[in-house]
Parts: sequence; C-alpha cells; structure tokens
Amino acid sequence: MIMKIAFFSTKSYDREYFNSANTRYGYHIDYFETQLNAKTISLANGYETIIVFVHDSIDSESIKFLADKGLKLIALRCSGFNNVDLKFACDKNVKIVRVPAYSPHSIAEHTVALLLTLIRKTHKAYNRVREGDFSIEGLMGFNLNSKSVGIVGTGRIGKITAKIFAGFGCKLFAYDPFEDDECKQYGVEYTNIERLFRESDIISLHCPLNPDTYHLVNSGSLSIMKDGVGIINTSRGAVIDSGAIIEALKNEKVGFLGLDVYEEEADLFYEDLSDKIIKDDAFARLLTFPNVLITSHQAFFTREAMQKISETTLSNINEFYDTGSCKNEVEHEQYIAK
Ligand code: NAD
Repeated sequence: MIMKIAFFSTKSYDREYFNSANTRYGYHIDYFETQLNAKTISLANGYETIIVFVHDSIDSESIKFLADKGLKLIALRCSGFNNVDLKFACDKNVKIVRVPAYSPHSIAEHTVALLLTLIRKTHKAYNRVREGDFSIEGLMGFNLNSKSVGIVGTGRIGKITAKIFAGFGCKLFAYDPFEDDECKQYGVEYTNIERLFRESDIISLHCPLNPDTYHLVNSGSLSIMKDGVGIINTSRGAVIDSGAIIEALKNEKVGFLGLDVYEEEADLFYEDLSDKIIKDDAFARLLTFPNVLITSHQAFFTREAMQKISETTLSNINEFYDTGSCKNEVEHEQYIAK
C-alpha cells in the first residue's frame, strides 16, 4: 500500500523539490499550505507520518490527539526541533526525525552576508545609486580584519562561520559546552560566555534554542558587552530578548543588528504581508532602526539546501519504516543534553 504523508506549511518550492525527491519513493504526499498548530491539527488526523517545518507547532495536546489516531512519525524538514514537545512524543512512542545538516554553508554564508551588508551599508548604497544619488556621506564602514568575533555555538554552522571569519583575519572567540578541535585550527580561542560577551566586537549566534539559551542575549548580558557591539542571529529568535535588544539599540549599546530569526516570527515570516498592518509592536520598532537588517528566516534557502532537505526527509521516512529506526532520530535525551 502506498504510504500517505501529510505535509504542512507548503510553499511552491517545497512541492517542486519534494515531488522531485519523491520520484524515488512514490509516497502519496498531501500538501497543506496551512501551518500545523492546535487549531489545524485535525488536518493531520489519520496520517501515520507528517512532514513539518520550523513554524509548525506540535505541543503535547496535538501529539496526544494524533498519537491516538495512529501517528507514528513526525519528520522535521529542518534541523531545529524546539517546536515539538519531545518528551511527550517520546512518552507516546511517536518518533521524531530531522535533517541535521542540510547545508551548514548556506546559513554560515548568510550570516556573513548580513554582517557585511550592515557594516558596509550596501543596502543603503543600492537604493541611493538607483535614485541617482552617488554621494557616499553616511556610508562609511569598517574593516572586519582584526576585529574580535565571538561565536556562540561551534556546531556544524558555527564552525563554518568561524572558518570564514578566520579568512577575514578576525580574532575569534567561541563559547560551546563542547570544544571542537577543527575550530581551534582556525585560531578559535574557547572561553566562557561572559568573556566572549565582554571582549567581542561582533557576536554571532549559532547555538540551539533550549532552556539554557532562551534569552541568552538579555539586558544583563547586553550590559557587559562592548559599546557599539554588533550582533548577528541566524540561530533561533528567542535566543535574543527582543525587548532588551530594542532598549540596547535605542541607547546605542548595540551598534548594529542582523536578524534572520525573530522570537515571534511564526505569524510573520514566509507570508506576503505587504498590504497588512503589522500588529507586533516590537517587530515594527525593530524595522525602524537604520542599523538593523532583518531577513525572513531565509538563511537556509539555497538550491543546495532544498535538495538535501527534500532527499534527507524522505530517506529518513524510508529508513524508519524499513528498519524501525533512523540515524537522524531526535531523542528526548538529546534535547536535554543540548
Ligand atoms: P549543531 O547542533 O550542529 O550545533 C549547535 C552547537 O551549539 C553545538 O556544538 C552545541 O554543543 C552548542 N550549544 C549547545 N548549547 C549551547 C549553549 N548554551 N551555548 C553555546 N553553545 C551551545 O546545530 P547547527 O546545525 O550548527 O545549528 C545551529 C543553529 O542554527 C540552531 O539554532 C538551528 O536551529 C539554527 N538554524 C537556523 C537556520 C536558518 O535558516 N536561519 C537553518 C538551520 C539551522
């Protein structure tokens, strides 16, 4: 019998890449454009397998409902898994698989793109030149060479980001509970998080979102950072306390901020809201700062990554039903350890 899979938060590019990857497996995929959450959970009723993305929210109630209706597998088509109640899934014997490393280069390169745009003001120059304004007043930047960059989390993405910054001739600090020998070869000096915050000119966030990293950047940690510090976040939005960073931007403690993620992004990102009123006051305030650059959780979005995401997600499902387990399974303990 052909397996039926429910696929949530579908965009046209998902269909294109998953239909192509599915020619190997022949699964019947029902694509739903809606996000999966407590209100839409009934759409997943009766499916043994669902494929979900970063803004789909699968809480304990949803897992209980779906497990009772026969759900066996939640296949995340992303690496983060903070949007699923892992403990409850584990208790209900619903397995979770993910795509741990689809293209860490895509996120690392986007991190650097955000940073270079901010410090060389190419986004402003682009608009000026198109308007016939060839003046350069206000566009002065600074060199990355010799600046201190603090990398929080030197896993797959943080490690590549460190390597790129090493190429710019930056001085590199890192904090991670687990030190990485490859990173040390790039000249990374591991230190504690306080020293990283105190001594970095630029801080780049690459840790997972978990109870330890929730609001890691808050009013307390911001207060010990250098005046004019630059912060880039391509990890998860809630690693930064939005209220605190807005205050720090207002009092110029933070010199520039690049965000690909935002803690309340689920109601905003991936939708065209250009003719709607933004109701999130904190987000609207962030958009007003000239030294803030926001992208809509697109760091992953390269051709290479989409291909790997679709192929790995379907191969995870195939492996799970073939063997009863999967190398990319997320264990509850993994969440606690990270
Ligand atoms: P990874 O698991 O390979 O690396 C994460 C690293 O963070 C690990 O080395 C871990 O030891 C470390 N870590 C754990 N707790 C920490 C803490 N309290 N402080 C500092 N470091 C800590 O993950 P990855 O694939 O490199 O992903 C990193 C982040 O990027 C995750 O938050 C992920 O959700 C996010 N991400 C974003 C996008 C995007 O499009 N913006 C895409 C993929 C991943």
